[in-house]
Amino acid sequence: MRVLTVVGARPQFIKAAVVSRVLRQKHTEILVHTGQHFDYNMSEQFFEELNLKKPDYNLGISGGSHAQMTGKMMIAIEDVLIKEKPDWLLIYGDTNSTLAAALAAAKLHIPICHVEAGTRTHCMTNPEEINRICADHLSNLLLVCTASGMEELSREGLEERSVLVGDPMYDAFLTYRHAVPVGKLELSLLKGRKVKLPAEYYYLTCHREENTNDNGLEELFKTMEQLDAAVIYPVHPRNKERSIRMSDKLQTKNIILSEPVGYLESICLVNHAKKIITDSGGLQREAFFAEKKCVTILDFIVWPETMTDSRNQLSSIKSHDILEKLNTPQTINSGYAPFGDGNAAEKIVDCMVRKTKEDIIL
Ligand code: UDP
Repeated sequence: MRVLTVVGARPQFIKAAVVSRVLRQKHTEILVHTGQHFDYNMSEQFFEELNLKKPDYNLGISGGSHAQMTGKMMIAIEDVLIKEKPDWLLIYGDTNSTLAAALAAAKLHIPICHVEAGTRTHCMTNPEEINRICADHLSNLLLVCTASGMEELSREGLEERSVLVGDPMYDAFLTYRHAVPVGKLELSLLKGRKVKLPAEYYYLTCHREENTNDNGLEELFKTMEQLDAAVIYPVHPRNKERSIRMSDKLQTKNIILSEPVGYLESICLVNHAKKIITDSGGLQREAFFAEKKCVTILDFIVWPETMTDSRNQLSSIKSHDILEKLNTPQTINSGYAPFGDGNAAEKIVDCMVRKTKEDIIL
Protein backbone atom coordinates (compact mmCIF):
# COMPACT_ATOMS: atom_id res chain seq x y z
CA MET A 1 0.00 0.00 0.00
CA ARG A 2 1.00 3.59 -0.58
CA VAL A 3 -0.28 5.63 2.34
CA LEU A 4 -0.19 9.41 2.62
CA THR A 5 -0.34 10.53 6.25
CA VAL A 6 -1.24 14.11 7.20
CA VAL A 7 -0.30 15.41 10.65
CA GLY A 8 -0.01 18.92 12.05
CA ALA A 9 -0.30 19.03 15.84
CA ARG A 10 1.48 17.63 18.91
CA PRO A 11 -0.89 14.76 19.75
CA GLN A 12 -0.90 13.64 16.11
CA PHE A 13 2.89 13.25 16.03
CA ILE A 14 2.64 10.84 18.98
CA LYS A 15 -0.06 8.66 17.38
CA ALA A 16 1.59 8.77 13.95
CA ALA A 17 4.94 7.71 15.43
CA VAL A 18 3.60 4.38 16.73
CA VAL A 19 1.56 3.64 13.59
CA SER A 20 4.27 4.76 11.17
CA ARG A 21 6.76 2.31 12.69
CA VAL A 22 4.45 -0.63 11.87
CA LEU A 23 3.24 0.77 8.56
CA ARG A 24 6.74 1.27 7.14
CA GLN A 25 7.71 -2.37 7.76
CA LYS A 26 5.82 -3.47 4.63
CA HIS A 27 4.31 -0.38 3.04
CA THR A 28 5.26 3.03 1.68
CA GLU A 29 4.35 6.09 3.72
CA ILE A 30 4.48 9.67 2.50
CA LEU A 31 4.39 12.00 5.50
CA VAL A 32 2.88 15.49 5.21
CA HIS A 33 3.24 18.01 8.07
CA THR A 34 0.83 20.91 7.60
CA GLY A 35 2.84 23.18 9.93
CA GLN A 36 -0.08 23.81 12.32
CA HIS A 37 2.32 23.36 15.29
CA PHE A 38 5.75 24.68 14.42
CA ASP A 39 7.81 25.64 17.52
CA TYR A 40 10.73 23.26 18.12
CA ASN A 41 9.24 21.97 21.39
CA MET A 42 5.75 21.52 19.89
CA SER A 43 6.92 19.76 16.71
CA GLU A 44 10.52 18.84 15.79
CA GLN A 45 11.32 17.58 19.31
CA PHE A 46 8.55 14.96 18.91
CA PHE A 47 9.96 13.77 15.58
CA GLU A 48 13.42 13.39 17.15
CA GLU A 49 12.33 11.72 20.41
CA LEU A 50 9.90 9.32 18.77
CA ASN A 51 12.08 8.53 15.73
CA LEU A 52 9.39 9.75 13.41
CA LYS A 53 10.81 10.13 9.89
CA LYS A 54 11.22 13.71 8.67
CA PRO A 55 8.14 14.85 6.74
CA ASP A 56 8.32 14.48 2.95
CA TYR A 57 6.36 17.73 2.74
CA ASN A 58 6.13 20.57 5.25
CA LEU A 59 3.38 22.92 4.15
CA GLY A 60 4.24 25.67 6.66
CA ILE A 61 0.62 26.64 7.28
CA SER A 62 -0.43 27.90 10.72
CA GLY A 63 -2.41 30.69 12.33
CA GLY A 64 -5.28 32.79 10.96
CA SER A 65 -8.95 32.01 11.45
CA HIS A 66 -10.19 28.42 11.31
CA ALA A 67 -11.45 28.95 7.75
CA GLN A 68 -8.22 30.60 6.60
CA MET A 69 -6.07 27.84 8.04
CA THR A 70 -8.30 25.01 6.80
CA GLY A 71 -8.68 26.57 3.34
CA LYS A 72 -4.94 27.08 2.84
CA MET A 73 -4.29 23.53 4.00
CA MET A 74 -6.89 22.08 1.62
CA ILE A 75 -5.32 23.81 -1.36
CA ALA A 76 -1.82 22.65 -0.48
CA ILE A 77 -2.84 19.08 0.45
CA GLU A 78 -4.82 18.71 -2.79
CA ASP A 79 -1.63 19.43 -4.78
CA VAL A 80 0.30 16.78 -2.84
CA LEU A 81 -2.49 14.19 -3.20
CA ILE A 82 -2.68 14.75 -6.97
CA LYS A 83 1.09 14.39 -7.27
CA GLU A 84 1.51 11.35 -4.96
CA LYS A 85 -1.65 9.39 -5.89
CA PRO A 86 -1.78 7.39 -2.65
CA ASP A 87 -3.99 4.33 -2.07
CA TRP A 88 -5.04 5.80 1.28
CA LEU A 89 -5.11 9.08 3.15
CA LEU A 90 -4.39 8.40 6.84
CA ILE A 91 -5.52 11.04 9.35
CA TYR A 92 -5.64 11.32 13.13
CA GLY A 93 -7.91 13.01 15.64
CA ASP A 94 -9.70 16.30 15.30
CA THR A 95 -7.55 19.23 14.20
CA ASN A 96 -7.96 21.59 11.27
CA SER A 97 -5.22 19.55 9.53
CA THR A 98 -7.45 16.45 9.88
CA LEU A 99 -10.47 18.21 8.40
CA ALA A 100 -8.56 19.87 5.55
CA ALA A 101 -6.96 16.58 4.49
CA ALA A 102 -10.30 14.71 4.65
CA LEU A 103 -12.09 17.31 2.51
CA ALA A 104 -9.32 17.41 -0.10
CA ALA A 105 -9.07 13.61 -0.38
CA ALA A 106 -12.84 12.99 -0.48
CA LYS A 107 -13.24 15.27 -3.49
CA LEU A 108 -10.43 13.37 -5.26
CA HIS A 109 -12.05 9.99 -4.40
CA ILE A 110 -9.02 8.92 -2.39
CA PRO A 111 -10.02 6.46 0.36
CA ILE A 112 -9.66 7.92 3.85
CA CYS A 113 -8.75 6.12 7.07
CA HIS A 114 -9.54 8.11 10.23
CA VAL A 115 -7.84 7.06 13.46
CA GLU A 116 -9.55 8.12 16.72
CA ALA A 117 -12.91 8.10 14.94
CA GLY A 118 -16.14 8.19 16.95
CA THR A 119 -14.96 10.54 19.69
CA ARG A 120 -17.80 12.93 20.47
CA THR A 121 -18.36 15.77 22.94
CA HIS A 122 -21.87 16.62 21.67
CA CYS A 123 -20.84 20.24 21.96
CA MET A 124 -20.98 21.98 18.59
CA THR A 125 -19.31 25.13 19.92
CA ASN A 126 -16.20 22.98 20.37
CA PRO A 127 -14.40 23.44 17.00
CA GLU A 128 -12.80 20.00 17.23
CA GLU A 129 -16.28 18.42 17.36
CA ILE A 130 -17.04 19.84 13.91
CA ASN A 131 -13.74 18.50 12.60
CA ARG A 132 -14.39 15.02 14.05
CA ILE A 133 -17.90 14.68 12.69
CA CYS A 134 -16.94 15.84 9.18
CA ALA A 135 -13.82 13.65 9.09
CA ASP A 136 -15.79 10.58 10.22
CA HIS A 137 -18.54 11.05 7.67
CA LEU A 138 -16.02 11.52 4.84
CA SER A 139 -13.94 8.47 5.80
CA ASN A 140 -14.06 4.96 4.32
CA LEU A 141 -12.48 3.29 7.33
CA LEU A 142 -13.19 4.55 10.85
CA LEU A 143 -10.80 3.18 13.45
CA VAL A 144 -12.06 3.64 16.96
CA CYS A 145 -10.34 3.73 20.37
CA THR A 146 -13.17 2.65 22.69
CA ALA A 147 -16.56 0.95 22.88
CA SER A 148 -18.33 4.28 23.49
CA GLY A 149 -16.84 5.56 20.20
CA MET A 150 -18.35 2.56 18.39
CA GLU A 151 -21.76 3.36 19.92
CA GLU A 152 -21.51 6.98 18.77
CA LEU A 153 -20.77 5.89 15.20
CA SER A 154 -23.56 3.36 15.24
CA ARG A 155 -26.01 6.13 16.26
CA GLU A 156 -24.78 8.10 13.22
CA GLY A 157 -25.26 5.09 10.88
CA LEU A 158 -21.52 4.56 10.35
CA GLU A 159 -21.07 1.15 12.04
CA GLU A 160 -20.39 -0.78 8.82
CA ARG A 161 -17.25 1.26 8.19
CA SER A 162 -16.08 1.22 11.83
CA VAL A 163 -13.65 -1.08 13.64
CA LEU A 164 -12.65 -1.03 17.32
CA VAL A 165 -8.83 -1.12 17.37
CA GLY A 166 -7.90 0.52 20.70
CA ASP A 167 -6.00 3.71 21.33
CA PRO A 168 -2.57 4.32 19.77
CA MET A 169 -1.92 6.75 22.66
CA TYR A 170 -2.03 3.69 24.93
CA ASP A 171 0.50 1.93 22.66
CA ALA A 172 2.74 4.99 22.97
CA PHE A 173 2.32 5.15 26.74
CA LEU A 174 3.28 1.48 27.16
CA THR A 175 6.28 1.90 24.86
CA TYR A 176 7.68 5.06 26.41
CA ARG A 177 6.54 5.13 30.04
CA HIS A 178 10.02 4.32 31.39
CA ALA A 179 12.02 6.21 28.72
CA VAL A 180 12.99 9.15 30.96
CA PRO A 181 14.06 8.33 34.54
CA VAL A 182 12.47 10.79 36.94
CA GLY A 183 15.83 11.75 38.49
CA LYS A 184 17.07 12.97 35.10
CA LEU A 185 14.23 15.36 34.42
CA GLU A 186 14.99 19.09 34.38
CA LEU A 187 12.48 21.78 33.54
CA SER A 188 13.31 24.85 31.45
CA LEU A 189 11.51 27.72 33.12
CA LEU A 190 9.73 30.31 31.00
CA LYS A 191 12.04 32.87 32.52
CA GLY A 192 15.13 31.01 31.28
CA ARG A 193 16.65 29.00 34.20
CA LYS A 194 16.62 25.22 34.46
CA VAL A 195 15.33 23.57 37.65
CA LYS A 196 15.17 20.03 39.00
CA LEU A 197 11.81 18.39 39.45
CA PRO A 198 10.46 18.74 43.02
CA ALA A 199 9.89 15.46 44.91
CA GLU A 200 6.13 16.07 45.04
CA TYR A 201 4.14 17.98 42.48
CA TYR A 202 0.84 18.31 40.62
CA TYR A 203 0.96 18.29 36.80
CA LEU A 204 -1.14 21.00 35.12
CA THR A 205 -1.74 21.39 31.38
CA CYS A 206 -4.28 23.95 30.29
CA HIS A 207 -4.43 25.71 26.96
CA ARG A 208 -8.05 26.15 25.88
CA GLU A 209 -9.03 29.76 25.26
CA GLU A 210 -12.00 29.64 27.69
CA ASN A 211 -9.67 28.55 30.54
CA THR A 212 -6.72 30.78 29.75
CA ASN A 213 -8.37 34.16 29.18
CA ASP A 214 -7.47 36.65 31.91
CA ASN A 215 -10.37 35.69 34.22
CA GLY A 216 -9.89 31.96 33.80
CA LEU A 217 -6.14 32.08 34.31
CA GLU A 218 -6.45 34.26 37.42
CA GLU A 219 -8.93 31.82 39.01
CA LEU A 220 -6.78 28.84 37.99
CA PHE A 221 -3.53 30.32 39.32
CA LYS A 222 -5.15 31.34 42.63
CA THR A 223 -6.39 27.76 43.02
CA MET A 224 -3.02 26.24 42.19
CA GLU A 225 -1.44 28.47 44.84
CA GLN A 226 -3.58 26.71 47.47
CA LEU A 227 -2.36 23.18 46.72
CA ASP A 228 -0.10 21.27 49.12
CA ALA A 229 2.70 20.70 46.59
CA ALA A 230 4.27 22.57 43.68
CA VAL A 231 2.36 22.72 40.40
CA ILE A 232 4.33 22.04 37.22
CA TYR A 233 2.74 23.95 34.35
CA PRO A 234 4.35 23.58 30.89
CA VAL A 235 2.83 26.49 29.03
CA HIS A 236 1.53 26.24 25.46
CA PRO A 237 3.29 28.91 23.34
CA ARG A 238 0.09 30.86 22.75
CA ASN A 239 -0.37 31.31 26.54
CA LYS A 240 3.21 32.19 27.37
CA GLU A 241 2.96 35.93 27.55
CA ARG A 242 -0.36 35.84 29.45
CA SER A 243 0.90 33.26 31.96
CA ILE A 244 4.02 35.26 32.79
CA ARG A 245 1.94 38.42 33.23
CA MET A 246 -0.57 36.66 35.52
CA SER A 247 2.14 34.99 37.56
CA ASP A 248 3.84 38.38 38.08
CA LYS A 249 0.54 40.07 38.97
CA LEU A 250 -0.38 37.42 41.56
CA GLN A 251 3.21 36.96 42.76
CA THR A 252 2.73 33.18 42.52
CA LYS A 253 5.08 30.99 44.56
CA ASN A 254 3.71 27.49 44.02
CA ILE A 255 3.40 27.36 40.23
CA ILE A 256 6.43 26.38 38.16
CA LEU A 257 5.93 27.86 34.69
CA SER A 258 7.99 25.90 32.20
CA GLU A 259 8.45 25.69 28.45
CA PRO A 260 6.43 22.87 26.83
CA VAL A 261 8.16 19.57 27.58
CA GLY A 262 8.73 16.75 25.10
CA TYR A 263 6.45 13.71 25.05
CA LEU A 264 8.87 11.47 26.96
CA GLU A 265 9.20 14.10 29.68
CA SER A 266 5.45 14.61 29.77
CA ILE A 267 4.88 10.89 30.33
CA CYS A 268 7.47 10.95 33.11
CA LEU A 269 5.64 13.92 34.69
CA VAL A 270 2.34 12.03 34.49
CA ASN A 271 3.80 8.89 36.07
CA HIS A 272 5.23 10.67 39.11
CA ALA A 273 2.61 13.37 39.72
CA LYS A 274 0.43 13.44 42.85
CA LYS A 275 -2.57 14.34 40.70
CA ILE A 276 -3.28 15.87 37.30
CA ILE A 277 -5.27 18.94 36.32
CA THR A 278 -5.87 19.41 32.61
CA ASP A 279 -8.10 20.47 29.74
CA SER A 280 -6.38 18.13 27.26
CA GLY A 281 -7.89 14.97 25.84
CA GLY A 282 -4.48 13.29 25.69
CA LEU A 283 -3.57 14.05 29.31
CA GLN A 284 -6.91 12.70 30.57
CA ARG A 285 -6.14 9.35 28.99
CA GLU A 286 -2.52 9.32 30.13
CA ALA A 287 -3.62 10.03 33.72
CA PHE A 288 -5.97 7.05 33.40
CA PHE A 289 -3.21 4.79 31.97
CA ALA A 290 -0.93 5.79 34.88
CA GLU A 291 -3.78 5.38 37.42
CA LYS A 292 -3.50 9.00 38.55
CA LYS A 293 -6.41 11.05 39.80
CA CYS A 294 -7.37 13.63 37.15
CA VAL A 295 -9.53 16.74 37.23
CA THR A 296 -10.58 17.99 33.80
CA ILE A 297 -11.50 21.63 33.38
CA LEU A 298 -14.01 21.38 30.56
CA ASP A 299 -17.79 21.57 30.33
CA PHE A 300 -18.07 18.47 28.15
CA ILE A 301 -16.95 14.85 28.38
CA VAL A 302 -14.54 13.66 25.68
CA TRP A 303 -13.41 10.28 27.07
CA PRO A 304 -16.29 8.82 29.12
CA GLU A 305 -14.29 5.65 29.90
CA THR A 306 -11.88 7.68 32.05
CA MET A 307 -14.75 9.06 34.13
CA THR A 308 -15.61 5.87 36.04
CA ASP A 309 -15.11 5.62 39.82
CA SER A 310 -14.08 9.30 40.15
CA ARG A 311 -10.81 8.57 38.34
CA ASN A 312 -11.34 11.62 36.15
CA GLN A 313 -13.90 14.30 37.01
CA LEU A 314 -15.13 17.33 35.13
CA SER A 315 -14.78 20.65 36.90
CA SER A 316 -15.60 24.25 36.12
CA ILE A 317 -12.72 26.74 36.41
CA LYS A 318 -14.04 27.77 39.85
CA SER A 319 -11.65 27.26 42.72
CA HIS A 320 -14.04 25.44 45.08
CA ASP A 321 -15.03 23.04 42.29
CA ILE A 322 -11.45 22.14 41.33
CA LEU A 323 -10.42 21.65 44.98
CA GLU A 324 -13.47 19.54 45.78
CA LYS A 325 -12.86 17.26 42.79
CA LEU A 326 -9.14 16.98 43.52
CA ASN A 327 -10.01 15.78 47.02
CA THR A 328 -12.50 13.14 45.85
CA PRO A 329 -10.71 9.77 46.04
CA GLN A 330 -10.64 7.52 42.99
CA THR A 331 -11.26 3.78 42.91
CA ILE A 332 -9.06 1.68 40.64
CA ASN A 333 -10.48 -1.45 39.08
CA SER A 334 -7.31 -2.90 37.63
CA GLY A 335 -9.15 -5.32 35.32
CA TYR A 336 -10.77 -2.40 33.52
CA ALA A 337 -8.91 -1.76 30.22
CA PRO A 338 -11.18 0.21 27.89
CA PHE A 339 -8.39 1.51 25.62
CA GLY A 340 -7.34 -1.81 24.09
CA ASP A 341 -4.33 -4.04 24.58
CA GLY A 342 -1.51 -1.77 23.45
CA ASN A 343 -1.48 -3.16 19.90
CA ALA A 344 -3.66 -0.55 18.20
CA ALA A 345 -0.94 0.31 15.66
CA GLU A 346 -0.77 -3.27 14.32
CA LYS A 347 -4.57 -3.42 14.14
CA ILE A 348 -4.74 -0.08 12.30
CA VAL A 349 -2.34 -1.26 9.57
CA ASP A 350 -4.09 -4.64 9.42
CA CYS A 351 -7.50 -3.02 8.94
CA MET A 352 -6.17 -0.89 6.10
CA VAL A 353 -4.66 -3.94 4.37
CA ARG A 354 -7.88 -5.95 4.78
CA LYS A 355 -10.11 -3.12 3.58
CA THR A 356 -7.84 -2.59 0.58
CA LYS A 357 -8.23 -6.25 -0.39
CA GLU A 358 -11.99 -6.28 0.24
CA ASP A 359 -12.63 -3.24 -1.90
CA ILE A 360 -10.00 -4.27 -4.49
CA ILE A 361 -8.72 -0.74 -4.30
CA LEU A 362 -5.24 -1.80 -5.50
N1 UDP B 1 2.35 16.98 26.11
C1 UDP B 1 3.69 17.15 25.89
N2 UDP B 1 4.29 18.27 26.39
C2 UDP B 1 3.63 19.21 27.12
C3 UDP B 1 2.25 19.02 27.34
C4 UDP B 1 1.63 17.91 26.81
O1 UDP B 1 4.32 16.32 25.25
O2 UDP B 1 4.25 20.19 27.53
C5 UDP B 1 1.70 15.78 25.54
C6 UDP B 1 0.82 15.04 26.49
O3 UDP B 1 1.53 14.09 27.25
C7 UDP B 1 -0.18 14.40 25.55
C8 UDP B 1 -0.29 15.38 24.40
O4 UDP B 1 0.85 16.22 24.50
O5 UDP B 1 0.33 13.20 25.03
C9 UDP B 1 -1.56 16.21 24.47
O6 UDP B 1 -1.50 17.24 23.56
P1 UDP B 1 -2.43 18.54 23.60
O7 UDP B 1 -2.78 18.83 25.00
O8 UDP B 1 -1.73 19.57 22.81
O9 UDP B 1 -3.68 18.08 22.73
P2 UDP B 1 -5.09 17.45 23.11
O10 UDP B 1 -4.84 16.25 23.94
O11 UDP B 1 -5.86 18.52 23.84
O12 UDP B 1 -5.70 17.11 21.78
